[in-house]
Amino acid sequence: MPTRFYHRMGMVKRGWFDQSFPAELQLQQIRSFQPDWLMGMPSTIRRIAALMRQRGEQPGFAARGIVLGGELLTETTRELIESSFHCRVYNRYSCVELWAMAYECRHGNLHVEDDLVHLEVIKDGLPVFQEHGQLVCTSLIHRHLPLIRYQNGDEGKLSSQSCSCGNTALVLSEIGDYRVRENSLARLWSPVVTLLENSFQRNFVLGEFQLRLAADGHGASLHYERGPRFTASTPQALRQALADFAPELNIEMVENARFDTEMSFKFSPLTVVNPPNCSRMLLH
Ligand SMILES: [Zn+2]
Repeated sequence: MPTRFYHRMGMVKRGWFDQSFPAELQLQQIRSFQPDWLMGMPSTIRRIAALMRQRGEQPGFAARGIVLGGELLTETTRELIESSFHCRVYNRYSCVELWAMAYECRHGNLHVEDDLVHLEVIKDGLPVFQEHGQLVCTSLIHRHLPLIRYQNGDEGKLSSQSCSCGNTALVLSEIGDYRVRENSLARLWSPVVTLLENSFQRNFVLGEFQLRLAADGHGASLHYERGPRFTASTPQALRQALADFAPELNIEMVENARFDTEMSFKFSPLTVVNPPNCSRMLLH
């Protein structure tokens, strides 16, 4: 019986791949599974895409689409993944407490899953619409631990707009700086992460990188791994790029360091390290 028959019956074969495994092993497992769809975190799938690009390999399977979530999805990462896997990427917005809250449609709009969650946006303590503010979430399905008007720490904007896909649910946007507070170090340093992605990672000079900032604003370190086009002059170019942004700050460069990850190997390219005895705040 063809697989498609089972899909029509709602019986979809699923495979789970450990995100802590090296990209090479994950790629082998995915190829052997031959998925129609892939779901994962942007940093995980990006590593696999970068490995294929580095080796000049094709995916070896024909995915119809890739659904990404759990981390900030930048345009650089989206382009790399779409061009490597030859399929469309769909973004998803969720948080661990409420799970899925919005899915991107084929026209690029992130529609709220309004049968699962009720979303609001507040600014200065007051509800706003079509304005950027803090998200307030109410689960419509969790009965054992109901979360009502729960502020999950993320920011965004809700708007109503007609979409050609036919979905009339509200559209969520501007969630890029979620968990970044006003006046935080991270908001200040976000452009540097974009610069590193566009000028170094996109060109395969750098592999993964993580910029760690001390909460007191007096220390920073750039942890990175080499990409295939890394050369002897790359460290100096990196130093220069960072010095242009913050000339007074001596930024420590650490190669091949172990990257800090949140639970489930969630990865952030920008972290603020609080003083000892305080929990570390992970930022996107
Ligand atoms: Zn739509």
